[in-house]
Amino acid sequence: MMWSKHNSKLQVSWDATSLSSFQQCPYKYYLTVINGWRKPYNVDIDFGSRYHHYRESYYRRYSESGDKETALRDTVRDLMRETWGWETGDTKKNRRTLLRAICWAAEEFDHPPVTKDSLEVSFGIPLGISSPYEEAYILCGYLDRQSEILGDKGFVEMKSTKNTLSSRKKLDYSPNTQVSIYSCASDIIWGVGRGFVEVCQTAVTFCRFMIIPISRQKSEREETWEEVKWWVKTAERCAEEGYWPRNENACGMFGGCEFREDVCSCPSQQRLGILKAGFKQEWWDPTLTRS
Ligand code: SF4
Repeated sequence: MMWSKHNSKLQVSWDATSLSSFQQCPYKYYLTVINGWRKPYNVDIDFGSRYHHYRESYYRRYSESGDKETALRDTVRDLMRETWGWETGDTKKNRRTLLRAICWAAEEFDHPPVTKDSLEVSFGIPLGISSPYEEAYILCGYLDRQSEILGDKGFVEMKSTKNTLSSRKKLDYSPNTQVSIYSCASDIIWGVGRGFVEVCQTAVTFCRFMIIPISRQKSEREETWEEVKWWVKTAERCAEEGYWPRNENACGMFGGCEFREDVCSCPSQQRLGILKAGFKQEWWDPTLTRS
């Protein structure tokens, strides 16, 4: 259950995506998570979800058969069939670069899941606090897998990007809400708080890869846990008051908010019409099982 039965705008099951959105800007959270508004097409989300899907498919086959070449061949066959006619209009994120990324990643990241059931592991962990209606708040999400990398077992999070990889890339993930939450979840599920971010840079003519080790001390995980509870209680206050303020200092972050130009730059009474004309509504429920 994602929402309270007593207040349809009070979220009780929280994942890293909705929490990050609220942390960034409560109004953005109101638009995207509560009301589901988003741009009609986002190539980064489309490419990222396909990359994730075929990497996961490859690893599942690899785990089941133990044969890397067969796993990759069958995954590529599915990709070629299922992406026929898929056009993105993007030179770095398209069918050809996806195919290359899947093939090259299989060579580059040769570390399958530790066990078959350490792939796509969902979690729903009680935060230990409740809504005003006695509904327990839950922290939920998915760990892509647990693998042994560089001699250490840890959770693995897969990412794709068009941006050039450099040694500064690791700063993106320490600190980072999603990775910190996954460290907490991995520690609770597997007793291992460390992890790795596997990053794939897709360019027009090549891919480049990077493994970023993630380390969180026990005290850091405890800090994350307390902060998550604080943010959830702050969101509860917004939901109970029906008020989600804008954070105008966040509008230019992460390449610029998608609502910056068309929506938030206009008076509030005009925004619903603008949203209906230029955006679509699509809700994300982190409590649903991935297909
Ligand atoms: S444009 Fe700025 S104020 Fe508006 S939703 Fe985005 S971050 Fe918030």
